[in-house]
Amino acid sequence: MMIERTARWLARESNGELIADPADRYRMVRGVSTDTRTLQINNVYVPLVGEHFDGHDFVEQAIEKGAAAILWQEHYPLPSTCELPIIRVQDTLRALQMIATSYRQELDASIVAITGSNGKTTTKDLTASILERQYRVHKTAGNLNNHIGVPLTLLSMPEDTEIGIIEMGMNHAGEIGLLSKMAHPNIAVITNIGESHIEFLGSREGITKAKLEILEGLAEDGVFICDGDEPLLTPAKPHIRVGYQAECEDSPLHIESKGSEGFTFQSKQTGTHFVLPLLGRHNLKNALLAIAVGRQYQITEAELRDRLMRVQLSGMRLELKTARNGMAIINDAYNASPTSMRAALDLLAEIHPNKEKWALLGDINEIGDQSEYYHREIGEYVVGKGINKLYTIGPMGEWIHAGAEEAGISPLHFASKEEAISILDRDGDANVVLLVKASRSLSLEIIVKRLVEGE
Ligand code: ATP
Ligand code: MG
Repeated sequence: MMIERTARWLARESNGELIADPADRYRMVRGVSTDTRTLQINNVYVPLVGEHFDGHDFVEQAIEKGAAAILWQEHYPLPSTCELPIIRVQDTLRALQMIATSYRQELDASIVAITGSNGKTTTKDLTASILERQYRVHKTAGNLNNHIGVPLTLLSMPEDTEIGIIEMGMNHAGEIGLLSKMAHPNIAVITNIGESHIEFLGSREGITKAKLEILEGLAEDGVFICDGDEPLLTPAKPHIRVGYQAECEDSPLHIESKGSEGFTFQSKQTGTHFVLPLLGRHNLKNALLAIAVGRQYQITEAELRDRLMRVQLSGMRLELKTARNGMAIINDAYNASPTSMRAALDLLAEIHPNKEKWALLGDINEIGDQSEYYHREIGEYVVGKGINKLYTIGPMGEWIHAGAEEAGISPLHFASKEEAISILDRDGDANVVLLVKASRSLSLEIIVKRLVEGE
């Protein structure tokens, strides 16, 4: 079960004013909701004020659906008829974060916080699979990793949670620091430093600084684990580095690619042989990070090996599919950054050595000013990897197209998804493997679905 506290407790911890009948002050609230569409009976309803919506407009629905109490932002006129305890606060978002901070402090759970430009969700899921047979684990659901998702994740932790695994994402400086102080982690993990959100952070150094804010809330005896191949992280003195550099505590050795079945490798630190049924070399590092966390909780090598062998990840991250024309598809339409695009192209180059390699690539969002540069660079990278055919789509996809053209090939730019579907359906066959990747906003999974299922 999630948080269970009285209305009075919520008011105290959020510095709020409790407006309630004396009998209602100790009313029990179970769970927190910021969305009346998913509100459960006895939740406290927290109306957030967003760009497009104001949660205060939905308070009637919250009451109808059985909320036990509601938070209320100052300056908004109070609802005229409301029999529920109301907790009036300065700022409902801030109040949500304060309540989450207090709840976390009252729990005995050990917390693993995971940030980085890419690989957070993967590392979170791998870590959870490693730990969950021996501990009561609670992890971030899906990708709820921001200033709202992290407090909601903390508040949904059952009281008897032994290990909480919390994904932390950000767009701006200061955000990870806030989340880290809220979750007060015992272990902090930085998966890598890429280029996402460079538009807000200026440079890779700026991104590094923002990710390192994860140390701001780390417990005094906490452990900092990170990508040992990133020199920008070294000055922060990580306790454990995993990667290919000599000074790393752990590295993957004797890596063998098993094609569409993933990899086998050996851990430098312990000599254990691992079987990793995931595609993409970047996942070796995500696995080593998860292994390093597991070892902190005394998971044996045999158990680590056994758990990793059985992992399954959530959809759209490097999924393998087969189109109805027989073409193999690597569906990575979930999201894209320059780093993850290169990682996916590495995989494409490696997998199915006897097939023709095609890539359908589109816009990478949130890299701001340097968008044109990074997209063109991807175009060149495609050529360097010896990909046989490149297709591009989306307005920024044109830069990928231009970069590849300059590097000497002639890609085809699709004007629409319909065009992409008809040409790829017509030209693809069982001798081809196609990578599909772009930022979420392009919804390229629609193309994959149609190629697989037809009309
Ligand atoms: P988001 O910011 O969307 O939450 P995330 O950090 O949680 O992303 P994942 O969802 O785990 O990342 O992976 C997204 C994509 O990033 C993967 O499909 C893969 O292409 C790429 N990726 C994963 N791990 C790494 C890594 N260690 N280095 C580079 N790229 C990676
Ligand atoms: Mg994620």
